[in-house]
Amino acid sequence: MKILVPVKRVVDYNVKVRVKADGSGVDLANVKMSMNPFDEISVEEAVRLKEAGVATEVVAVSCGVGACQETLRAAMAIGADRGILVETDVELQPLAVAKLLKAVCDKEQPQLVICGKQAIDDDANQTGQMLAALAGWPQATFASKVTLADGKAAVTREIDGGLETLSVKLPAVVTTDLRLNEPRYATLPNIMKAKKKPLDTVKPADLGVDVAPRLATLKVAEPPKRSAGERVADVAQLIDKLKNVAKVI
Ligand code: AMP
Repeated sequence: MKILVPVKRVVDYNVKVRVKADGSGVDLANVKMSMNPFDEISVEEAVRLKEAGVATEVVAVSCGVGACQETLRAAMAIGADRGILVETDVELQPLAVAKLLKAVCDKEQPQLVICGKQAIDDDANQTGQMLAALAGWPQATFASKVTLADGKAAVTREIDGGLETLSVKLPAVVTTDLRLNEPRYATLPNIMKAKKKPLDTVKPADLGVDVAPRLATLKVAEPPKRSAGERVADVAQLIDKLKNVAKVI
């Protein structure tokens, strides 16, 4: 069984993002970029399924600029067998990515796509769901446990007040939540090995997909600066301030 894992190149989660002076977006100049953390979890899960003998091949796919090759190499260092870069300089929105992934699925015919539940840059939480809709496949989102058997995936999801387990028929799209697994660190020998794994590059036009943005970003702004806190002498003064200064009680 082939598993496809989309991996997105995003601003590293440790970086404090800066908004461009003109408010048109986030400044990416000289900023450390890494694989979206939820996608590391997806790659880890797919590789574990391969190690368990359930999957036979893990293919990582990244859509974006040429530097996404690094993200694909990182996925291959964790254990993906090969990579596909859908290369474009156009800023991709979730619908465009979902259409590209659908076209890759048509070619590759995976039985399972494991996406991250959301990309930490746009926080869209849309791509996996859109891909499932375009492909006409079932979806199970926010997975905290995945078991494959008899052409089906049993997917446990953390929901308010407990756990829900769904059964979806393969092929399907699963999106990963934080507690699904703890991704391994790529070892140096595996990083070296990853450099020799196959990496194909295609363009959106080769896949017949129009990736032109459908949404316009009107403005990006930093959150308002928080003012300094204040120490109060006792509970009475705290209540007085909450009532008469902050006016929240
Ligand atoms: P989003 O819908 O943007 O929050 O992204 C959800 C998931 O879709 C990510 O965790 C990735 O698995 C996948 N994804 C989104 N954008 C890309 C991209 N440009 N290349 C590859 N995968 C992507």
